Amino acid sequence: MMYYENLAEMYTGDDVTPDFYGWVFPKSDHVAVGTGTVTHKTDIKKFQLATRLRAHDKILGGKIIRVEAHPLPQQPRPRRVADRVALVGDAAGYVTKCAGEGIYFAAKSGRMCAEAIVEGSENGKKMEDEGDMRRYVERWDKTYCSMFKVLEVLEKVFYKSNPAREALVELCRDEYVQKITLDSYLYKKVAQGNPLEDLKLAANTIGSLLRANALKKEMDKI
Ligand SMILES: Cc1cc2nc3c(=O)[nH]c(=O)nc-3n(C[C@H](O)[C@H](O)[C@H](O)COP(=O)(O)OP(=O)(O)OC[C@H]3O[C@@H](n4cnc5c(N)ncnc54)[C@H](O)[C@@H]3O)c2cc1C
Repeated sequence: MMYYENLAEMYTGDDVTPDFYGWVFPKSDHVAVGTGTVTHKTDIKKFQLATRLRAHDKILGGKIIRVEAHPLPQQPRPRRVADRVALVGDAAGYVTKCAGEGIYFAAKSGRMCAEAIVEGSENGKKMEDEGDMRRYVERWDKTYCSMFKVLEVLEKVFYKSNPAREALVELCRDEYVQKITLDSYLYKKVAQGNPLEDLKLAANTIGSLLRANALKKEMDKI
């Protein structure tokens, strides 16, 4: 725990998961060693072992205090309203692809739904209806759909193979990438970048992907 007091680790690679990432996150008095996968759920024990092996020296002497598994609903459900019932948070499928972030979106969707109810019921003077609930979903989609889509594309491009993951690591060294990633994370919207820097980033992305693929081909030959 001491090593991880102010540190969170993220692992990528076919050994730890074929389609997401593995992690060691600090909790109050223990660490969570996690594995995310949608495509290979039955192999989860193998992936967990691989993440523990990667973090081996740092978690040495630690003991397993609990084993648990949970679904991460990463797709906003097409139907989130029925009559006067609306889904929010995980029930609505508000966990992002790529990062697996759901806490903010659960709290925010709860607030947005409550606001639509207060508004529709005119502060409790009349009964809200399905239309009021739909307003919450429309506002939600307008505010966050683009961000969910961007993260979906990033996951598809960068988590699909080891070379693609290497390309992601290479790109993350760039300060511009770090800035727009942090801004998007902090403000929960796709950060508006600088067009010239965006162009450079697109070229770097293609370059990194090509380099990583070429490297993989060389490694495969060995
Ligand atoms: C291993 C793991 C790691 C994660 N890490 C992160 C992270 O680092 N950052 C992040 O942003 N997100 C993370 N998430 C996702 C995040 O935890 C969820 O998206 C978020 O907690 C969803 O909140 P929620 O209120 O919608 O649902 P929940 O937190 O699941 O809350 C639902 C509550 O309803 C209760 N409940 C269920 N059925 C009933 C019932 N019939 N009657 C009464 N109560 C009931 C449950 O006990 C639970 O307390 C992680 C998820 C997992 C599984």
